[in-house]
Amino acid sequence: MKAFLGVDVGSVSTNIVALGPEGKVLHQQYIRTNGQPLECIKKGLTQLKIGNPGLEIIGVGTTGSGRQLAGIVLGADIVKNEITAHASAVIQNYPDVRTIFEIGGQDSKVILLRDQMVTDFAMNTVCAAGTGSFLDHQAERLKIPIEQFGDLALSSTENIRIAGRCTVFAESDMIAKQQYGFSKADIIKGLCEALIRNYLTNLCRGKVLEPPYVFQGGVAANKGIVAALEKELQHEVIIPQYFNVMGAIGAALLAEDYIKKTGFQTRFAGFNTADLQFVPKTFNCNGCPNVCEVIQVDLNGRPIARWGDKCGKWANAIVSEPCPDREALDVREQQKVLA
Ligand code: SF4
Repeated sequence: MKAFLGVDVGSVSTNIVALGPEGKVLHQQYIRTNGQPLECIKKGLTQLKIGNPGLEIIGVGTTGSGRQLAGIVLGADIVKNEITAHASAVIQNYPDVRTIFEIGGQDSKVILLRDQMVTDFAMNTVCAAGTGSFLDHQAERLKIPIEQFGDLALSSTENIRIAGRCTVFAESDMIAKQQYGFSKADIIKGLCEALIRNYLTNLCRGKVLEPPYVFQGGVAANKGIVAALEKELQHEVIIPQYFNVMGAIGAALLAEDYIKKTGFQTRFAGFNTADLQFVPKTFNCNGCPNVCEVIQVDLNGRPIARWGDKCGKWANAIVSEPCPDREALDVREQQKVLA
């Protein structure tokens, strides 16, 4: 069977999706990145091949913070930022949606759409208080498996408020509430509501949030968080079937769109790319006060890709047509594709 491959390499997970005819998900994987994106890509490709004998990849798209690396390793036809990829996946499945909430393990996003175009977005990659790691940390502290968080939160009958401005405040407030005698269920419900308050107050500040709403990312599996979000919004939210791999689905859809529009053959490096030895390294450029951190990938001792240099000085030495502002280009391209 022919399929388009989408790969989303993030700091927490590496997600791999194969889309068949009419956008049907043939295969999906959610792999913990654990600081080893190359190993995850190789593992994912091997699993994809084993689980789908005879699968022919006819287009590849990559996204996520490790999208350039994944793009080089896989021979991607298209490399896109997370906003574009997530928006594309949602538009394909829910064309009327106007607001996308995305909360992952270590980052979160909000994307506003009007008439299937991205009109605004915000990303948080710095503060843990509005992400899944906040809940993970508190689950560990309370000695409750994170998988039980949602059901426990829903069983609470009390409304208690936990200070969620940052993990330090939340922790001391939780200890105080425990000492007052509140149950773990009440405290967990309070934590879920604190996370959502933090997310809406900080990331969505000043944005006009309009339904229909889609909520995705790994944290969307937590029923307590979904309930807290719906309570704050006073409106139901849609949880997509493949809520934790939407970035990879979007990357695959963008690859399909690109291949169909251009008529190009895919540059997919093949399943054997899993056997090649790619070596990533990093160095700082002291050519000007920007002191860019440049990422370089070597194959057989030879540099095959570089990025991270704001002026293109290092990427130019390898790539013939570098873009000095890749993110801006991505957004312009996305708007053209969706137009
Ligand atoms: S890569 Fe370019 S912009 Fe970055 S520090 Fe070097 S000279 Fe400056």
